[in-house]
Amino acid sequence: MRALVWVGIRRMELRDVVKEGPPEGWVTIEVSHTGICGSDLSGYLGENDLRKPPLVMGHEFSGTVRDVGKGVPDGMAGRLVTVNPLLSCGKCSYCLAGDRQLCLDRKVIGIQVPGSFADYVNVPATASYPVTDPVRGALVEPLACAIRAVRHSGVRVGDRALVMGAGVIGLMCARVLAASGASEVAVADVNGRRLDGAKRWWGATDVVDTSGKDADTSLKRLANGGFERVIDAVGHGQTRRLAIESVRRGGTVVFIGLHENDTILPGNVVVRSEIAVKGSFSYADDDFRRGVMLSGNLLDTSGGWMVVRELAKGGEAFAELVRGSPFSKILLES
Ligand SMILES: [Zn+2]
Ligand SMILES: [Zn+2]
Repeated sequence: MRALVWVGIRRMELRDVVKEGPPEGWVTIEVSHTGICGSDLSGYLGENDLRKPPLVMGHEFSGTVRDVGKGVPDGMAGRLVTVNPLLSCGKCSYCLAGDRQLCLDRKVIGIQVPGSFADYVNVPATASYPVTDPVRGALVEPLACAIRAVRHSGVRVGDRALVMGAGVIGLMCARVLAASGASEVAVADVNGRRLDGAKRWWGATDVVDTSGKDADTSLKRLANGGFERVIDAVGHGQTRRLAIESVRRGGTVVFIGLHENDTILPGNVVVRSEIAVKGSFSYADDDFRRGVMLSGNLLDTSGGWMVVRELAKGGEAFAELVRGSPFSKILLES
């Protein structure tokens, strides 16, 4: 079978690799679509220490079950599914409480084990969820990340919300906030083209260009007294600081963006304004299930924010996203 193998910094190779059968309890999926994630790009650039070459990446995907391992019902074969790529021990206190994303032994398909930038991928049978559309199916994983972040924000009907960062996760957060009843959803980014897309396809009511010096004043002008909920989907020192400065007293800030580990934050403001700061990482199973259910209604896949390319053109797609692409998301079709 073909696999797009990351062999080193900025180097992808389409290789012929051996197709392994599914282990007990697992199934083999014939891959349909896989999204290229921002974390795949940092891996490609050698900036993500969890990914070690040679590696087949790909953790946002859909496909058809072709082969079932021992102990898996034959009836699963032939189903179009999306896959929760989070692997966990199933025994620790986090797993037993339903928080597999916190498992001390967590692994992710496409990061520590072979992923779906290939013709076939093996996954646990219990990780696959039936879907009706292969493109929407491949978008469930990032949507589930956004659903968790919005859940952590505690948004209520009528709240004003701000999202820092108009990458796919930020845009999906905006969409879920709007669907959760936020009366205003502002999106801030340094890229004007992305901000246009936020309004067109993702339900943003206001957009703020934060490339200038007066970003904080523009944000303050938008929400008198501050936003009730702010999500930082970037993870830079500057965006984290702006997030805390833009939330109202008693409000909630959620950090989902991963960029710089060490950032300076206005700690006294957090104390004096009783701001809740919460981290959000991937998704619990419940968030993923909601992602499966909501992907049909929440995502406008006709929009110009995404494009599908062939797996064989995957190397070029990675290079394009690193250079700066007009598309927020490129999906590779196997
Ligand atoms: Zn991802
Ligand atoms: Zn565990």
